[in-house]
Amino acid sequence: MPMSRLRTDDELKRLRERWTDPAFATARDSLLEQAETALAADLRPVGEAGGWGHAFHCPDHVVPLEFDPSGPPQHRCPVDGKLWQGEDFDGGWRCALNGRIMGGIQACATVVAAVGPEAGDRRLAYPREILLDYAERYPNLPPSGRWAGKGKITGQGLEEAVWAIGACRVYDAIRDQLSDADRTMIETGLLRGLAAHLTDQLFGKIHNIECWQLSALAHLGVILDDDDLIALAVDGETGLTAQFAEGILDDGWWAEGSPTYHYYMLSGALAAAAALRERRPAFLETRGLRDMLLTPLSMIRSDFSLPATNDGWNSIAFPYGLAQYAGHYEQGYGLWPDPRFAEVLAACYAQGTPRTGEAALALGPDLTDVAAPAAWPLKTVHPTSGYAILADDHRYLLLKYGPHGGGHGHPDKLQLDLWADGVRLAPDAGSPAYTSPLQGPWIRQTLSHNTVLLDQTSQPEAEGTLINFRDPAEHPYGLAEASVTWPEDPDAVAGRQGSWLREPRRTHVPAYAGAELRRSVLWTADYFVDLVRVEAPQEVPIDLAWHHRGVLLGRDDLEPVDWRPPDETYAILSEVHRLAPQDQEWQLSWEVEGVTTRLWAHDPEGTEVITATTPGNPPAEPQSTVLRRAHGRAARFGAVIETSRGPGRIDAVEWEDRGETLIVSVRLPDRTDSWTLPASGVAT
Ligand SMILES: [Zn+2]
Ligand SMILES: [Zn+2]
Repeated sequence: MPMSRLRTDDELKRLRERWTDPAFATARDSLLEQAETALAADLRPVGEAGGWGHAFHCPDHVVPLEFDPSGPPQHRCPVDGKLWQGEDFDGGWRCALNGRIMGGIQACATVVAAVGPEAGDRRLAYPREILLDYAERYPNLPPSGRWAGKGKITGQGLEEAVWAIGACRVYDAIRDQLSDADRTMIETGLLRGLAAHLTDQLFGKIHNIECWQLSALAHLGVILDDDDLIALAVDGETGLTAQFAEGILDDGWWAEGSPTYHYYMLSGALAAAAALRERRPAFLETRGLRDMLLTPLSMIRSDFSLPATNDGWNSIAFPYGLAQYAGHYEQGYGLWPDPRFAEVLAACYAQGTPRTGEAALALGPDLTDVAAPAAWPLKTVHPTSGYAILADDHRYLLLKYGPHGGGHGHPDKLQLDLWADGVRLAPDAGSPAYTSPLQGPWIRQTLSHNTVLLDQTSQPEAEGTLINFRDPAEHPYGLAEASVTWPEDPDAVAGRQGSWLREPRRTHVPAYAGAELRRSVLWTADYFVDLVRVEAPQEVPIDLAWHHRGVLLGRDDLEPVDWRPPDETYAILSEVHRLAPQDQEWQLSWEVEGVTTRLWAHDPEGTEVITATTPGNPPAEPQSTVLRRAHGRAARFGAVIETSRGPGRIDAVEWEDRGETLIVSVRLPDRTDSWTLPASGVAT
């Protein structure tokens, strides 16, 4: 029986043809260079088990520490040169070492796959020696790790799975040129060892980490010709099929509520689909799997970025954030030759991202006649994930109301994320590194989001509802209106994500029992009106937070505040001031990267308006925070928000409080708009 392979014959044929095709010279040369660099460095495994990769970061600056191949007792921060030492850092260094070795042998192995024995002795010898070395060590390495499972070469089940997929692909590329004795050694010592260890790490929940572990087991099952292992990976109770059935929501998003984790999970899923395509061709038809590549395009901003909601690095929110995922579309095209994937790639490469990687050579499309689209059709409501988007040709506002998102969720119901003219203005911060000291007190709290918190306490997990939506492209004005209520008895509500891995988190906070938030955004071509209505079961402080990047403009009348933060979250606020006690109306402006935001507000009587500086993301980038603090059992906050490059168009905003109803008039050079903001019901 022929050995089963991770790379198909077609794929290898294309890789070999393109290796000498001038159109792919960049990809080829970059792989050759990576292989040369690896051979020159000649990194070798060390005796001890690896630690947690995230630990190899400077705790102060949340950047990776400098990697010194000699394995020094202290590790240097690249920002200020400070030296860090201790077992966590050493373990992180070993994990980084094993990752670098894997990167190097993968590059060598791809060259071997592309040119066979002509790759030269060294390019074959290095990955061979490394796999044999690990094969000898692996059985004796102790499992270690504190978070989300254990590794042996790494410090986590997830990191071990990613490493294992690399090991399988290296072995797949060089196996034909190894002796029987070498193969037996690598298969029994390393690959069987990885399979046994990763099987132990399965935790039986729907989660991106489990997908990676299952993907690694699928790779191992294919390369070891082991149907039982493949069945465990694919058909198990929480196997890959179940992961997709439950984890891919009806609107096409991975259920963790984060574009970054959507793509991260997709990396493991695409690798699994590619590994399984000959043994389990039906797997490619799994509901939602192929379309995971298309879903983000339906929410993308005109600079090919996406809001960084929930956990996940915020690089996706930067201009052309999509381009970092070009490899997914190369691989996806090889599995399902969809012309839209080719268009994504044309768009990514048109803005300067180099076309590199084995997937571009072996699986990607011919892009010769493919034009980059200027935009993709925007889907304004993603009902299961709970995203409502109001947008036009230069602005994009997200109202997020959906389910929590499991362990990677943030308590951010009804938050806004504002972007305009290519600039993140009032964004969701996403996550800095998990070792950031801001994770617990700030990033994972409601206060760091543009929404409401009661009694100075983060929102308990909840899922909101979209009440009204009108697309501004189809109506005289746009409207997005969502609400969220917290049950009086949280135990009475069955968790929709019961099979999800979640963090232990308080779900019952008395201030929220029976509370309701409702947010309505009215959208015009010139500005939008933001109305937030709150009903609380008891009299509590009601805080509405707003975080804007850049600087608060021209307010020299701010008063210092004797700031007494109730907890570590409020203690993150620095340079705390307040607007002079005033009537209920005020106006503030911010500027960042040439875009100005002007906000005219109307607050409940007695509202205190607090300004402060808080960390953005990266944390070294400060942002301007405004906290509107009312007291009571109900509150209605109104705002008119205009963004512009250069001067804005609004001449004046006038508020008229008629008790039940708030009327706001917005005066522009050519017209005056009047909006009715009722205490309850629909704003018009
Ligand atoms: Zn540092
Ligand atoms: Zn968040």
